Amino acid sequence: MPPGGEFDLIAQYFKRPVPRGMLGVGDDCALLPLAPGCQLAVSTDMLVQGQHFFADVDPRLLGHKALAVNLSDLAAMGARPLACTLAISLPRVDADWLQGFAAGFHALAAQAACPLVGGDTTRNPDGVVISVTVMGEVAGERALRRDAAQADDDIWVSGTLGAADVALRWLLGQLPAAPQALQHARPFLEQPTPRLALGQGLLGLAHAAIDISDGLLQDLGHILEASQCGAELWLDALPAHPVLDGLPADVRQDALLAGGDVYELCFTAPAARRQPIQALGAQLGLPLSRVGRVQAGDVAVRVLDAQGLAVPVAHRGFDHFKGSS
Ligand code: ADP
Ligand code: MG
Repeated sequence: MPPGGEFDLIAQYFKRPVPRGMLGVGDDCALLPLAPGCQLAVSTDMLVQGQHFFADVDPRLLGHKALAVNLSDLAAMGARPLACTLAISLPRVDADWLQGFAAGFHALAAQAACPLVGGDTTRNPDGVVISVTVMGEVAGERALRRDAAQADDDIWVSGTLGAADVALRWLLGQLPAAPQALQHARPFLEQPTPRLALGQGLLGLAHAAIDISDGLLQDLGHILEASQCGAELWLDALPAHPVLDGLPADVRQDALLAGGDVYELCFTAPAARRQPIQALGAQLGLPLSRVGRVQAGDVAVRVLDAQGLAVPVAHRGFDHFKGSS
């Protein structure tokens, strides 16, 4: 960074007014007031060029996604966003790129009431690296934790599954080109919607929740492992995005069960809560699907077809050190 450049850049692209009572960009630390009786929910997610995004991705969409994937973690705990910080490494100062990135980031920050209050800016010749930390609040002891699922809970999934996964495969040339379908699917990959209202609405209704970032089987597996339970999952009940229609059965199944970058919530809740959960989905205009059941016993997911027969599963999800498994 040239002398002065770093600070001009921060002032121009990242410093924005913050709500009264908060101290934002410009001091050594940001200061955030916390509501009495609330716990602070904190989460960090990185996006690395070449790993998580293409170098030529629209910077506005990247700005959106960098914050969205973090807000999705707050959503999964039922937390209300308070503020966020942004650490960013850039090969060079590209005004157009920064303008777009900042616009996408701040637009979602405003929409989610999650102002940018600090961060760090450095140079990295090898490419863009972005790390966002979000902070939120949730009333003491009420957060939706992974370790709170109970045997006989229903398993629910919000929205639809699979669109982001097939969009990525089309972009990578792993599936025969289908430009129109890609056009429908691409926003799911590049502009995910964090389910903040759903997460907060589920406080007191759901037992456990997680956001689906690495694939349904893998992420549900995290709930089951933390809760020491098993589960059955009903393949036919999974809410497939229409863009999966007509794709080969194995591609479709993989996208549903192991497709990442979904950012819908998977949650478990007692059967007695079905009605208020459906009402919450209707109120939010967000379909909520009951897709399985938590079971006592081994930590394992059994995927069943419409006849109740076990379905063999090829891939479970994504692991950064193992790849797709
Ligand atoms: P320090 O040397 O105290 O760490 P910096 O010089 O790194 O401070 O940053 C100056 C101010 O700008 C700090 O308030 C910091 O939080 C903020 N800042 C730096 N980079 C970013 C960024 N990418 N986004 C938002 N705020 C940033
Ligand atoms: Mg610093």
